[in-house]
Order: sequence, then C-alpha cells, then structure tokens
Amino acid sequence: MRVLVTGGAGYIGSHCVKRLGELGYEVLTIDNLSNGNKWAVLYGELKVVDLSDTAKVREILKNFNPDAVIHFAASIVVPESVKNPIKYYKNNTENTLNLLKNLIELDIKNFIFSSTAAVYGIPDTVPVKETDPLNPINPYGRSKAMVEQILQDLSNAYGLKYVSLRYFNVAGADPEGKIGQAYRESTHLITRALKAAKGEIPYIEIYGTDYPTTDGTCIRDYIHVSDLIDAHLIALKYLLDNGQSDVFNCGYGHGYSVKEVIYAVKKVTGIDFKVIEADRRPGDPPRLVADSTKIKEKLNWGPKYDDLEFIIKTAWQWEKTIS
Ligand code: UDP
Repeated sequence: MRVLVTGGAGYIGSHCVKRLGELGYEVLTIDNLSNGNKWAVLYGELKVVDLSDTAKVREILKNFNPDAVIHFAASIVVPESVKNPIKYYKNNTENTLNLLKNLIELDIKNFIFSSTAAVYGIPDTVPVKETDPLNPINPYGRSKAMVEQILQDLSNAYGLKYVSLRYFNVAGADPEGKIGQAYRESTHLITRALKAAKGEIPYIEIYGTDYPTTDGTCIRDYIHVSDLIDAHLIALKYLLDNGQSDVFNCGYGHGYSVKEVIYAVKKVTGIDFKVIEADRRPGDPPRLVADSTKIKEKLNWGPKYDDLEFIIKTAWQWEKTIS
C-alpha cells in the first residue's frame, strides 16, 4: 500500500511517516522544508518540492501512484495569518485545490486532510460537535474551512473520498524520543513553556487573563500527537475499506487553561520559570474543546495518552535533545 504524505518533514507529518513506515506502508514525503527537517523523515523518500509547483507535484504523483494522500503541508500560525492572509490562502487553500485537481485527473481517490478546530471560531456551545456551524474568526481558520467546502464539492462531483480531521491542540512528541516539534520558531503554548524552562527564552507570556473562564485564561483540548496519528491510520483504513467521505474532531473532550498548562509544565520539568501576564492575542477563542463522540463511535478511535503530564513529559524529553 502506497501513501504520499505532504508536509511529512514537519511536526505532525513526521510522526505520521514514522508510523506508516513502522506498519510497512510504502511512503513518500513531499515537503518544501520551510518548517520541516530532512532528518525528521525516518521512512521512505523525501522530495523537496513546494506544492505550488503543480507540474512537479503531478509528476511525483504519477510516478508514485499512491493509494492515498495525507495532506499535512500548511501554514499554521494564527497571528501570522491575520498579518499576512495571502500567504494562508495561497499555501493552504490554493495549493490544496491544485493538489486535489491533480489527484482527480490522476484518479487518486483517497485523501486525508489536516483541518483544524479553528474552523469553528468562537463556538456557541462547548464541547463542539462536527455538525456545529463553522464560523472561523481568522484567515488561518478560513483558509482551512474553505478547503473543507471544496472537498465536499469535489467529493460530490468527482467521487473523491476524503476524511477531514479537525485537530484541536496537538502536543507532545514520539514517546520513543526519535522525533518531536522542531519549528524554527514555535508559537505553541507547551513548546514555549518548555523553552522558558530550558532558559532558551527568558519568560513566557500568558495572552489574556480576563477571559470568561474559571481562571480567566483560555481553555484548550490538548491531544498527544501519537493519538492524533492513530486517528489518521484509522481514517486511512476506513477510506481504503470504502468508507464514505466524512469529518471528525480530534481531541479528548476536555480542556486545560493556560495557567493549568503552565503549572503542569513547571511540575514535570521541576523548573520554576518566569511567567508574565500579558494582553490577549488576536484571534483566540476563550474555550475550544472537542466533542469526540463521533470519531470514537464511527471509527472506533480511542486515546492512549489522555494525560497532560505525559504529553508534557514526552515533549520535554524531546525538547532537551534539541538546541
Ligand atoms: N498562549 C499563551 N502564551 C504563549 C502561547 C500561547 O498564553 O506563549 C495561549 C494562547 O493564547 C491560547 C493557548 O495558549 O489561548 C494555546 O495557544 P497555542 O498557540 O498553543 O494554540 P492555538 O490554540 O492557538 O492553536
């Protein structure tokens, strides 16, 4: 079974490539290395290509002739998307549309899409369900929601089969310690807190302490990257077994506040780093927690690492190995 992974040199993509390789899938990665690393691709070949090079992508697809494509490659920083929306509509929406056009022309039918909880915007009810309205509040979320709409239309028109996975807050690292998050500049809470613990940054800021939550800081549903990859493998099997196109939340169904996460990072690392209370960051919903009933019931997915301290422990183990 052949699987092509876009963004396979990045944080989540590299964990997927590792798992696919371990399970004996033939895997090929396309990555432009803008935020990925060659060393992170532990199985199969890496083609360093930008998805905007549609002719090159087409040639690779044609030669490899995958049974499925898992599409991670994307720009993912919310504040950057507010400042530079064109980058997001180009990298996330336009490049995905071009990729899909190639898949349809080459009759490659199975597609797994990295969507995001950001498509919900500020949900009216939490935990949020797949059927709740999509009201993204920033260009990042909109660039992904547009792809979800495109996928529905292409699935209806051309018989493309897809699973869209809406990631909540992905964190942690490969429990074997071989790979982890290695962004040039990470904006994510757990990684930044660990960098503060390591002394790589002088302090961490809490973006907003006046939210309508119990301690005033934002609540997120943190999911271990290995559990998220399980969801991809299950979705892949589901599509290959002729499952119909569908959308699933990927989260644990409960959340932690920024303050709770920082407390847990201090506990796991044993380091009391400096924390500063700062203004809100634009584009942050107060609470974002998944209703994960659908993926549990329909795909039989179940979390193995639903434990914030374990998530932080694996991320810390990884963080200590990188400069
Ligand atoms: N956050 C924070 N300080 C940081 C990074 C993040 O207070 O240095 C907050 C952020 O405002 C949000 C939560 O932590 O409420 C999770 O942010 P992250 O960037 O990790 O993920 P997001 O929810 O934006 O996808």
